[in-house]
Amino acid sequence: MHHSLKHSPALVLGALLLVGAAQAAEYPTHPINMVVPFSAGGPTDNVARSLAEAMRPTLGQPVIVENKGGAGGTIGTTQVARAKPDGYSLLLMHIGFSTAPSLYKNPGYDPKTSFQPIGLVVDVPMTIIARSDFPANNIKELVEYIKKNKEKVSLANAGIGAASQLCGTMFTQAIGADLLTIPYKGTAPAMNDLLGKQVDILCDQTTNTTQHIKAGTVKAYAVTSKERVSTLPDLPTMQESGFKDFEVGIWHGMWVPAGTPKPVTDKLVTALQTGLANPDFQKRMAGLGATVLTSEANPDALAKKVAQQVPQWEDMFKKAGLQPQ
Ligand code: ASP
Repeated sequence: MHHSLKHSPALVLGALLLVGAAQAAEYPTHPINMVVPFSAGGPTDNVARSLAEAMRPTLGQPVIVENKGGAGGTIGTTQVARAKPDGYSLLLMHIGFSTAPSLYKNPGYDPKTSFQPIGLVVDVPMTIIARSDFPANNIKELVEYIKKNKEKVSLANAGIGAASQLCGTMFTQAIGADLLTIPYKGTAPAMNDLLGKQVDILCDQTTNTTQHIKAGTVKAYAVTSKERVSTLPDLPTMQESGFKDFEVGIWHGMWVPAGTPKPVTDKLVTALQTGLANPDFQKRMAGLGATVLTSEANPDALAKKVAQQVPQWEDMFKKAGLQPQ
């Protein structure tokens, strides 16, 4: 009797829960990994590295960015979905989190059940750009040129499920041109090839394109936000350019694997919110044309966003006749 009481399952479970709670209370005791599912030096990486720095004071541990590009972001996203739910594996991903599940038969994760959301981070407009010597000086000329030279024009993107692929597809569908697309592991290498004049056009986030547009090393035609971006005031919106319903913002969010203990996610939410309020972070994001989503930096807002976006894009792709691969 005495013996069996000592080892009762309830007591063992209780002891395990206490150990778990103690670990969660101490969290974090070592550096945290933040997966960016695209190449280093690109738009998502730019946001992630600024955010990692801004979250450090609250966490008291460094946040190390790991770039895991490929398959439009689904490889890195899946890596975090399968990671240990202990708060040491974060995912910084964007709108592609909710488009990829409709574009792949098996994206590797379920947007509703594989993750615990932490919060929204930033919203970033996209810009349609071309190599600096591309023979079109405004969007009207761009459309005319593409229509006349469909077989010659190449479109770079970061693979199926990436923001650049979403925007590029919206654009080519709108003008009825099915272009040769060149996929990369992120838009950092795509931009390199654009600067090297190896590819012709790219639709990429202002968090990567602003510096090149300002320096004149690429040609820029339009921005995909509803309003013009204050950092690029001369760039017309797609809607001003005659693309009536063309509006897309690349929202970014932070997730951890499902099953991460509540004390850990609470700490991450606080670190995210404090990070977004950091003046250096805000200044950097503003300079890159990004809007910081302070009031949506919480799990409920991100869960709501995903629940709304997944069916919306699924519907759009179906209507556009895009089949999952
Ligand atoms: N945002 C991605 C990157 O950081 C590319 C993309 O989504 O198009 O490279």
